[in-house]
This record gives sequence, structure tokens and C-alpha cells, in this order.
Amino acid sequence: MELPDYLPLSYLNQLLYCERRFWYMYVVGELAVNAALLEGTLRHQRADRPGEERIEEGRVVRRLAVYSDRLRLNGFCDLVEEAGGVLRPVEYKRGRQGRWDNDQVQLCAQALCLEEQTGRPVPAGEIFYYRSRHRVAVPFTPELRVQTERAVARAFDLLTAGVMPPHTTQQARCRECSLEPLCLPKETQWLMADGG
Ligand code: SF4
Repeated sequence: MELPDYLPLSYLNQLLYCERRFWYMYVVGELAVNAALLEGTLRHQRADRPGEERIEEGRVVRRLAVYSDRLRLNGFCDLVEEAGGVLRPVEYKRGRQGRWDNDQVQLCAQALCLEEQTGRPVPAGEIFYYRSRHRVAVPFTPELRVQTERAVARAFDLLTAGVMPPHTTQQARCRECSLEPLCLPKETQWLMADGG
């Protein structure tokens, strides 16, 4: 498989959720659009309108393209707020805050790109969850930064290996995964138990 020069950072979210899901969505290019996903896409559109506006405390830039040559990452920030000279990326998500940290890693990847591009520290960001209608502050701790860089390295390792990862062993993730009808984790498990 030919490795990409840059990995779109939104796929880190998939990778952290399930490596097989990352493979389906990035390599196979399959996207099972369910109602929730469609709703999220539509809600996302407002945040995705590019542009810049000034606010009392500073400015807000929508749909900002970002990249990191060091990490070989690129992508977009839904929103970047600047107040008092401090940059803060904001990511919009459908639904509520999940039980896993994939959203935080995606946001941290945006921060790492912003830091490389601007040479300024980006200490924290926020995630806005539409369903619960609240913002969650995400400090970019040293641990989260390491986790994010490891996820990038893992993505390139998987692409280099060129083999679809196995199903996740965490079945709760499968129950909330839009690719479940395509991936068939339970059916595969039954077949394997039968020695099939
Ligand atoms: S159904 Fe389960 S194993 Fe398959 S991609 Fe989704 S989370 Fe991963």
C-alpha cells in the first residue's frame, strides 16, 4: 500500500475508537451512513462555513486548514478562537460526550498542528456536543500529547503493515458503531467459535 504523505487528522478519532473502523473508513473507504451520522453531518455544516469574525475579546476563525510536517498530519479545525493572544481550537460533535477519549485526541492533533504552524503554545481546546449542548474543556496535557503522537505513529504502522486489524474486543464499541452491519463482529465471533 502506498503511504500517504499526510494523514487526515480526523481519522485519528476512528483509530482511537477501533483500529478496524479506522481501516474501513480510511483504507476501504466505506462509510455506513446512519441517521445519527447524517444528523451530525448536517449540524456540522454551520461550523464548517469558512470565515473569520471579530468578537469583543478577540477573533474567531471557522474551518481553518492546519497541518504538521513533523507528524505528517493535516486537516481542519472547525473553529479557532483567539483571545488575549491565546489560540483555542473548538471541535463540534453530534451527540453527547462519549466514554472514550478519541474526540480529545483529534482535538489535540489540531493543537499540535496549530503550535507547529504558529510557533505559539496552544494549552487547551473545547469540544461542543450538540445533543447535550455543552462545551467540554480539554487541556492538552503532556499525557494527551503523547497519546496523540502515538496514535499518529500507530496509524502509519497499520498502513505500512497493510493488513486489516481484527475486531475490537470491546463489544460496547461495536454496539455504537455505524459500521457494525458491515463489519459483523458477532457473526465473525460465532464462526470462529464454531471453528469456521
Ligand atoms: S463493528 Fe466493532 S470491530 Fe467493527 S469497526 Fe465497529 S467497533 Fe470496530
